[in-house]
Amino acid sequence: MSTPVHRIAIIGAGPGGLTCARILQQHGIPVTVHDLDASRTARDQGGTLDLHLDTGQHALRLAGLWDAFTALSRPEGEQLRLVSRDSRIMFDAEPPRDGRGNPEIDRGQLRNLLLDSLIPGTVRWGHRLTHAEPLGAGTHRLHFADGSTADADLVVGADGAWSRVRRLLSDATPAYTGVTFVETGFDRADHRHPELASLTGNGTMLALDDNRGFVAQRNSGGHIRAYVGMRTHEDWHQRRGLDLNDAVAVREALLQEFSSWSGHLLGFIAATDTGYTNRPLYALPVPHTWPHTPGVTLLGDAAHLMSPFSGMGANLAMRDGADLATALIEHPTIDDAITAYEDTLLPRSSEAAEGAAEGIDSAFAPDSANQTLAHMTQNH
Ligand SMILES: Cc1cc2nc3c(=O)[nH]c(=O)nc-3n(C[C@H](O)[C@H](O)[C@H](O)COP(=O)(O)OP(=O)(O)OC[C@H]3O[C@@H](n4cnc5c(N)ncnc54)[C@H](O)[C@@H]3O)c2cc1C
Repeated sequence: MSTPVHRIAIIGAGPGGLTCARILQQHGIPVTVHDLDASRTARDQGGTLDLHLDTGQHALRLAGLWDAFTALSRPEGEQLRLVSRDSRIMFDAEPPRDGRGNPEIDRGQLRNLLLDSLIPGTVRWGHRLTHAEPLGAGTHRLHFADGSTADADLVVGADGAWSRVRRLLSDATPAYTGVTFVETGFDRADHRHPELASLTGNGTMLALDDNRGFVAQRNSGGHIRAYVGMRTHEDWHQRRGLDLNDAVAVREALLQEFSSWSGHLLGFIAATDTGYTNRPLYALPVPHTWPHTPGVTLLGDAAHLMSPFSGMGANLAMRDGADLATALIEHPTIDDAITAYEDTLLPRSSEAAEGAAEGIDSAFAPDSANQTLAHMTQNH
């Protein structure tokens, strides 16, 4: 008897979906990835990530991409600094020198690394899933916005925060965390913005106090990406009658919000090269679980969207992708594989999501400078 070839469809070409696809292909298992982006270059992929030993690093080793990763990664980017609202350095943790740290990589570089490792044509770009229709016995028909359809024996929802696949399994929707980031950026920072570059250091700088703050991160190519964070209403801009496309008005509103902070830090608002992108932060309820359902499962943010204050979202997505692929390789049926995968996924992600919820609450609290200092002193 020949082994049946399953039709595996992964929705979403983020770090989780691509890791899963790569490991399946290494074992000769056919897979297709569908993504709504028109191409791999359609969208800026965002800032830098540090990959952790048991999650992101583990997944890359399993995917045979560790050496390629180390050639791109920035171990020095692990420097972590806490700055007071009057721009004094309160804490400065150098990266570990023994090579056992969590090296940083730009998200775009990581995505390209994973994409380049796949058989050409694996990712179907411009395929936005609108809904998946159960056909019985674990099979689903995928409907895409361009009118095309595809049938799959396993649908993997790797489609991020606002997952369409999740609707097959759960009614849960992401809720606003109470914190909004406004993203800004600085090109050739050492030359053009030496004060901001010096405050940021080689890695990440946090300045958090009184329910607001700045997170600045070195990216590759001399770029600094910064987030101006506020505990505020989700519709804070509407309440102020602010048009988010009006950069001058946004800058004035943010400068007003931080009027009692040091002028050095205000440079992260005033000197932007990229303008301002409003990013309210959302999280799924904790724990987020679902009844075992033949032919469909979730990974990454689709399963456990959490605030970035865990520092784990992409790491967990990659570990999920690696674990799901491993389960599919090791188990005789898709159903056995889903059961084994979900048994480890759900407890692991619940623990991380609880940590992320505590993390964002202490980072955006009235006395967050002291809370963050205590946390850093304890953990470094
Ligand atoms: C400001 C910020 C900072 C962060 N910092 C870190 C960090 O330092 N470390 C860390 O580990 N994590 C971090 N995260 C979290 C991390 O970005 C996410 O957890 C991670 O990207 C999740 O990966 P994923 O593969 O599950 O989903 P995503 O990366 O969201 O990818 C989902 C993919 O699905 C596609 N898609 C969506 N809907 C559809 C559809 N209907 N049809 C087809 N395709 C679709 C999208 O185009 C996308 O390519 C941060 C998040 C934010 C917001």
